[in-house]
Amino acid sequence: SETILKVNNLKKHFPIKTGVLQRETGVVKAVDGAHFSVKKGETIGIVGESGCGKSTTGRTIIRLYEPTEGQIIYKGQDIAHLKEKEMRSTIRRDIQMIFQDPFASLNPRKTLGSILYEPFKVHKMYSHKEREERIGDLLETVGLDASFKSRYPHEFSGGQRQRIGIARALTTQPDLIIADEPVSALDVSIQAQIINLLEDLQDDLGLTYVFISHDLSVVRHIADRVGVMYLGNMMELASKEDLYAEPLHPYTRALLSAVPVPKRKGAEKREKIVLQGDLPSPSNPPTGCVFHTRCPEAMEECKKVVPVFEEKRQDHFVACHLYKKA
Ligand code: SF4
Ligand code: MG
Repeated sequence: SETILKVNNLKKHFPIKTGVLQRETGVVKAVDGAHFSVKKGETIGIVGESGCGKSTTGRTIIRLYEPTEGQIIYKGQDIAHLKEKEMRSTIRRDIQMIFQDPFASLNPRKTLGSILYEPFKVHKMYSHKEREERIGDLLETVGLDASFKSRYPHEFSGGQRQRIGIARALTTQPDLIIADEPVSALDVSIQAQIINLLEDLQDDLGLTYVFISHDLSVVRHIADRVGVMYLGNMMELASKEDLYAEPLHPYTRALLSAVPVPKRKGAEKREKIVLQGDLPSPSNPPTGCVFHTRCPEAMEECKKVVPVFEEKRQDHFVACHLYKKA
């Protein structure tokens, strides 16, 4: 199927004040080279530790942030630098976001009915009667009851609130959903229900997901392809099968070594790789490979030469000097 979203060399730098007197200016390189594509109806998982830039990548794609550099090609059109007026018409309807904390993103003073009515007004979609009908349908679609319309967010459990967040994302009939840690705040049993709901909706509605998570087990369950980020940079990108079975980047290997794997006969035992040192600051990233200060396999050239993110095996991309181009 067709590629619906392609992100090329995406960067998002935030200006900051630095120095003792806060008189100097610098930049936080929150995202400093994100690359991936996703086909219609697929899920791409974006993983990495907190602060790696995965959330900023999601928010920049949906244009909550203006990108510093790079391309966001959505359905063949580069939307990276579209003006808000140009976004309004189709893109804002077409790409929706689900947030980690559904409660924080729901207005506590509004009933569920008016929360779900809002996007219809913003986008001037449907008649009043159709909107009311659609709200009932949406609630049922996400496993809630149409009669919940008159209730307030605090009357719902965490799992129900995330269902509301999903319903709200669906109001405008999007094709692409950016889900930023959508189950991280939920109990494990509830996590599974929400993941199943997202998968059912994908099948029924043909949705495409960018699924952002620090949890490699969750991503392994839901994603078709997986991208690994470190300090604002995409380090590795491959099919889920290739990435989990044969991680190439030393950072990916370290991340995966910390995930308990079900014991299989003949399965290779993975030693836990403990990374030395602290995560460097994105306002002062290391030269060369940004991972070199912590990489167990760092070589002399890694300190000086930035590894190019390229296809090193078929459909398996990695930014690391250990591999030659395919
Ligand atoms: Fe490690 Fe060098 Fe590869 Fe970076 S380029 S991940 S420092 S081996
Ligand atoms: Mg985050």
